[in-house]
Amino acid sequence: MLKQTILRLERCATASRRGVYEKMKMMPLFGNYFRSMNRTQTSYSVPKERVDCIVIGAGVVGIAIARALALKGREVLVIESAPTFGTATSSRNSEVIHAGIYYPRDSFKATFCVRGRDMLYEYCSKHGIPHKRIGKLIVATQPSEIPKLDDILNRGIHNGVDGLKMIEGVEAMKMEPELQCVKAILSPLTGIIDSHSLMLSLVGEAENHGATFTYNSTVVGGQLEGNEICLHITETNRLNDQNGTSILHPEFVLIPKLVVNSAGLSAPALAKRFTCLQSGVIPPSYYARGCYFTLSNTKATPFRRLIYPLPEDGGIGVHVTLDLNGQVKFGPDVEWIEGVDDISSFQNKFDYSVTASRAGRYYQEIRKYYPNLKDGSLEPGYSGIRPKLSGPHQPPVDFVIQGEEIHGVPGLINLFGIESPGLTSSMAIADFISTRFLG
Ligand SMILES: Cc1cc2nc3c(=O)[nH]c(=O)nc-3n(C[C@H](O)[C@H](O)[C@H](O)COP(=O)(O)OP(=O)(O)OC[C@H]3O[C@@H](n4cnc5c(N)ncnc54)[C@H](O)[C@@H]3O)c2cc1C
Repeated sequence: MLKQTILRLERCATASRRGVYEKMKMMPLFGNYFRSMNRTQTSYSVPKERVDCIVIGAGVVGIAIARALALKGREVLVIESAPTFGTATSSRNSEVIHAGIYYPRDSFKATFCVRGRDMLYEYCSKHGIPHKRIGKLIVATQPSEIPKLDDILNRGIHNGVDGLKMIEGVEAMKMEPELQCVKAILSPLTGIIDSHSLMLSLVGEAENHGATFTYNSTVVGGQLEGNEICLHITETNRLNDQNGTSILHPEFVLIPKLVVNSAGLSAPALAKRFTCLQSGVIPPSYYARGCYFTLSNTKATPFRRLIYPLPEDGGIGVHVTLDLNGQVKFGPDVEWIEGVDDISSFQNKFDYSVTASRAGRYYQEIRKYYPNLKDGSLEPGYSGIRPKLSGPHQPPVDFVIQGEEIHGVPGLINLFGIESPGLTSSMAIADFISTRFLG
């Protein structure tokens, strides 16, 4: 993979800048891809090419889909606006392999999480991806929370999550001496994963099966011509002077047989720029930032398992996460934020800052289950933004996967609202798409 990247970079550096098509060929990966393809004359004043499958967005979900399509023998081109893969939500999460407990029965979230979890464990073991099945405790810190804990347990059991067990507070506190709780659900199948290693492995495998990844390239819109979807693409750098109201002229147009809009936070905004889509099919989108604080000043790691309080509106509570290096993180909270304009969202220009002043609420929340948390031990970490389809105080909404049968556009698949457990579900979503839409 490194060798390919170097070759591409060399090609990029030595290519002449003679025109848009030349430019396209010298953009990372387009050179390779277009060598095997025929150009077609079109009514556009920009070059236009036919391709087999396009995946928009190289987050963990897009990458998993690209791999699944490539393994089925399809020619795959992944178009990513950032300079490399996995720089958006896929590198700003808890890195937890969820068991599949919280989600409504038979929802995509429940089904994909349970299946994706098993696929992920199997993939990690086979490919040497660092991960650990460390288990988790969901805790009630006062008796009034116990009925909610019962509901969560029942939901998990209905979702087919094996090994769940309600335990008394004393037993949980024996397992985790720093913990304070009155009752807990033990989830032995929950784990942690090095998500970057996962993505690296999936990218490598996709490339080995012929998929091509192009970076610094942004899909800025699309339209139907006859029965075919035409995607408008430009170099990401060209967007620097634009804003959400700009009309964007593509540098080139691609006509795929199949295109998967897996643009994460930007997927709804991008769909709005597909003139062939009725606005009614694009769900309203909301953004909920979640910040993490890391634990410092504490000699030993206080917990061996993940500790989760009861879920809150918009998230699953400020929990304890451990990474594979033993670093303890607390988060994410839920802060509803305004989105940026669509062009800025394609460039991932969201506000990811974590201000130290937020720590106050964290101390309060964490001490409900970890009373020995010392003053001054929380340091601002990082944040991620949830691509949500429901707003404050609204019930959670399932993942949305739309094919032609919903929006009427042949060959287009939209993925909306792929928030948590999207990392856990990634391989199951990919399998679903490559089976359902390719047969
Ligand atoms: C705070 C937080 C904690 C989480 N914790 C967990 C967890 O512990 N376990 C779990 O299973 N899930 C978790 N998730 C969810 C998980 O991280 C996401 O579901 C998953 O990463 C989504 O991957 P994606 O590929 O859909 O999106 P992304 O990773 O956002 O990828 C989308 C890609 O599309 C690119 N893009 C955007 N617009 C364009 C365009 N116009 N043209 C080309 N490219 C474009 C972006 O640059 C980006 O690389 C968490 C999420 C958050 C926010």
